[in-house]
Amino acid sequence: MKMLWERDGRSSRRAFMLGACGLTALAFLAFAAAPAAWAQERDVSLGLPGVRGGVVTTSEPQAAQVGARVLRAGGNAIDAAVAVQFALNVLEPQSSGIGGGGFMMIHLAESKKTFVVDSRESAPAAADPGMFLLASDPSSAFPFGIRSTSGIAVGVPGTLRGVATALESWGTMPLPQLLQPAIEMAEQGIRVSSRLAESVSSARLDSEPGNPAYDQARAVFRPGGVPLAEGDLLVQPDLAKTLKRIAEQGPDAFYGGEIARAIVDTQRNARSLADPVDQAKLVGRMTLADLANYRPAIRQPVTGDYRGLRIVSMPPPSSGGLTVIQILKLLERFPIGDESKGFGFGSAKTLHVMIEAMRLAFADRAVWMGDDDFVDVPSKGLLDNAYIALRSKQIDPGARRADVQADDPRPFDTAALPAKVELAALALPDEEGVNTTHFTVVDRDGNIVTYTSTIESAWGTGLMVPGFGFLLNNELTDFNRIPAFNPDPDAFNPGANDVAPGKRPRSSMAPTMVFRDGQPRAAFGSPGGSTIIDTVVNVAMNLIDHEMPVQEAVDAPRIAQTSANGATRRELGFSEAALEGLAALGHSLRSPGEIGSVQAVVLDPRGQRQFGAADKRRIGGVVSLRRARSAAD
Ligand code: GLU
Repeated sequence: MKMLWERDGRSSRRAFMLGACGLTALAFLAFAAAPAAWAQERDVSLGLPGVRGGVVTTSEPQAAQVGARVLRAGGNAIDAAVAVQFALNVLEPQSSGIGGGGFMMIHLAESKKTFVVDSRESAPAAADPGMFLLASDPSSAFPFGIRSTSGIAVGVPGTLRGVATALESWGTMPLPQLLQPAIEMAEQGIRVSSRLAESVSSARLDSEPGNPAYDQARAVFRPGGVPLAEGDLLVQPDLAKTLKRIAEQGPDAFYGGEIARAIVDTQRNARSLADPVDQAKLVGRMTLADLANYRPAIRQPVTGDYRGLRIVSMPPPSSGGLTVIQILKLLERFPIGDESKGFGFGSAKTLHVMIEAMRLAFADRAVWMGDDDFVDVPSKGLLDNAYIALRSKQIDPGARRADVQADDPRPFDTAALPAKVELAALALPDEEGVNTTHFTVVDRDGNIVTYTSTIESAWGTGLMVPGFGFLLNNELTDFNRIPAFNPDPDAFNPGANDVAPGKRPRSSMAPTMVFRDGQPRAAFGSPGGSTIIDTVVNVAMNLIDHEMPVQEAVDAPRIAQTSANGATRRELGFSEAALEGLAALGHSLRSPGEIGSVQAVVLDPRGQRQFGAADKRRIGGVVSLRRARSAAD
């Protein structure tokens, strides 16, 4: 089967008209803020017969422009991605930045190698599994609103070392050059976007009025107590100073010295609570040694086959790749694309089996997945064909399964481990943010970066490092808040994601690439906490099963199920008949709400034409570069 998105791109009159201009390097920038402008972007990304000079797609159009400038100046995808990340720290400070972490997947065209730079935040050496428990009542954890806005939630930041490592190893440009656009934007100011303006009013910036550590961010984003509005000028001199210092002295200026000391001091702030013992528990435990010792990890992605394509995605400590691939493989036996059999996009039957597969995979995720530098994650077993077949049998196309439980993939992982003897699964509901960002870059040579980057919740902890202008993440709230370790070696051990010193919290981030015969065909990912996994599955199925062109695949309404037995999230846009069909099968659907924000690139079968798409659910900007004739032809 040859997917629509794998065939040569479609041409349009507009494309020919633009092509006839005879410009040697033409950039197409699309803004998706208004419906009319979005329609224009659709034209740009779909109407043109693809480009060859590179594509940058981000949730912030100005960040896409920054990346495109790097590509135009001769930089590769890694260079552009580094510049985009710094630009996003200025443009979208509530979502990602040097105070956070992320997962960058890189494909190098020449060596055909695909790997991951894991810059996930880690727990300090003094962390312990009970650190989120109330001192006054150790059977309960601090509520999310409290622990996620306290120093105890701050993980050792990884983003800067992550991008610097990627750049040193696979980039071509010096770090100071790639910091320059962000420094200029922070110094000279940016116009506040609609999304930033909306976020500035969020309650996550309300913590602890009068506490200087929390007042810092308010002073920047609510100057004089007035939230910045769309179109206002936002100047960030402290952030500019920090980025300049990194440009002059390198990443060590962040992981040691004055900035490191300021980070450690800032995360020692806690929310004020009536009980002084409880309050003391919320103080962050990061030390200068934790910062100095932080290193990103270079990892092999997890892979699995789906309808003849190879899905390559994020390994532990993210649960993203394993869960995405499990869901797809659980669904592979159904003719999802075949409308004549009652399937096809958005039919009740298709949505039903998707939900059932998501339930099964999320049940396993809750028990088995965590940082496999610390725990044995049965990754092979979870994706083993025999195990998948066993699990997939539990999907009845005609009925919702009453109760979904995790199973034991260990016998399929290695013969040495015993089979399950009891079930002790603890599925705590996830309380992850949805404010991360995802961007994708492909360059003229076919190198690809697809990168999900985060400070976890909007504004992270809300703690901004005084005088340095960046926010500290609350990533450690992605760990189990109540330890779930089961000491019985024969039992299920849902403690895979318990806190431990130096461990990285389980993520859902899932930058993903799709390959056929070794050639990359698509690269994408999304923010959205645990719904990231479902979003990536929706888009993969839209491309592969429903043969949609990339922008349609991104635009189409999504469903998401993030637990074994809870309700299903959905977006507006599914037919009444499908929704009624799901209700009749026993599914309970939440009221509609947006899910994810996908930035995707698709490549033609020979890897020559590149198509970008940005998600209209956020602002979204794609820059597509036609290759300069003189250089290319
Ligand atoms: N902290 C989440 C994770 O690592 C991401 C949060 C988000 O998408 O906003 O999975």
